[in-house]
Amino acid sequence: MAPPTNARKDDGERRVLAVKRPKYLRDFSCAGSKCIDTCCKDWHISISVEEVAYLRYEIEDPELKEILASAIKDGPARTQSSETGLGYIELDAAGKCPVLDSCGLCRLQVRVGEEALPQICRTYPRRQVLVTGPNPEILQHASMSCPEVARLVISDPAALDLKQVTVDTEAVRLPSTVVVDGRRSTVAARYFSEIRTSVRQLLEAHAADPSLGLFAVAMFAQALSRHEGQSSAQDAAWIAERVSVYASREFAGGFSGLRSDPSIAFSILQAFVRLRLRNPDRVVRTYVDHLNESFRGLGFDPEDEAASLAGYVRARDEFPARMRQRPWMMRNIALAMFESSGFPAFDGPELWSQLVGLCIRYTVLRMVLIGTAARQGGPLDPKTAVQAVYAYSRVIDHLTGFLEAAKKILEEKGLATPAGMAVMIRG
Ligand code: SF4
Repeated sequence: MAPPTNARKDDGERRVLAVKRPKYLRDFSCAGSKCIDTCCKDWHISISVEEVAYLRYEIEDPELKEILASAIKDGPARTQSSETGLGYIELDAAGKCPVLDSCGLCRLQVRVGEEALPQICRTYPRRQVLVTGPNPEILQHASMSCPEVARLVISDPAALDLKQVTVDTEAVRLPSTVVVDGRRSTVAARYFSEIRTSVRQLLEAHAADPSLGLFAVAMFAQALSRHEGQSSAQDAAWIAERVSVYASREFAGGFSGLRSDPSIAFSILQAFVRLRLRNPDRVVRTYVDHLNESFRGLGFDPEDEAASLAGYVRARDEFPARMRQRPWMMRNIALAMFESSGFPAFDGPELWSQLVGLCIRYTVLRMVLIGTAARQGGPLDPKTAVQAVYAYSRVIDHLTGFLEAAKKILEEKGLATPAGMAVMIRG
């Protein structure tokens, strides 16, 4: 039996697809055994029923066969935040994938070949969106929970530059996490690619101030939500007109008049800290130490809110100087976050809710970096920044209930609006 494949079945006709890939992904290559924190640990490895059968019955290497016989389990892998897959590879007592050898190399890959790997191992940290409909294309990106991706995103000013290549569908394996049907009725579905291009344009237009860029994206997302259900004949022209308004200097001028309130971002950070400490699962526990360093930099004291807030404001005001050597970093992070989230995926939560979630994720990461830089003193060291970015990305992906708690804080304060996003992000 051949390894299960996710290659798209073709109807016999050869077709080509446009693939858009950012530079950081073109440069990416898994660090393997040299990785500072391999992804082959802590996370349960969910696999399909076909992969269960293949790994359990078709592998001939005697040592591997024995390891897999005890490691492959039926049923969903239970993590704190989700139940996924129909089978999984159980981690060993140290929390590592038992297929790894003593050098940190994957025995399946070394002895049988990449084709034998479960889909999740073959594709992580890459993700892609297949846009179907009249102009099909594939949009590729990757998760910053991989330290190598985080490193590439923050170290190269051009990391997010897109390049389009044309590929034969038969040559593309398509483990797409989101499939967008361009013929669906919502604006987000019909104009998925255009909206992503617009988000990029808005963040580029305000590259010097990602907070302003995110405010522009928030205004755009709210306008899109309100536009839903209106005449669709002029959608493309309407989107272009909105983008030109939110990218303009006049729009930027209005932003400086909006209030800034550090207590909002601080309340969100407190919710993050509370949830992080309450029954953290294995993944979250692993990264608590990284995050604690950042909280020390912020002077965070759960017993003294006023002193904590004052410490945060001090660290925040010093942050631009600490980032002077990497002025592109926060813009790259914001863009990478948007693109890897699949925004504006129509089959997820409604568009505005997706936007609020992304702004919250960005705000807390910015605070973590502010704390990391303050703890370190002097200009932010890239290695420390990478650790903060990937550790935070791993924690936030596993922190059940945080986004809901943070959204509730914003709603209670009447800040679940574009202006509220600006107040939170700037804070
Ligand atoms: S975390 Fe990234 S670089 Fe490290 S082993 Fe996994 S894919 Fe490779």
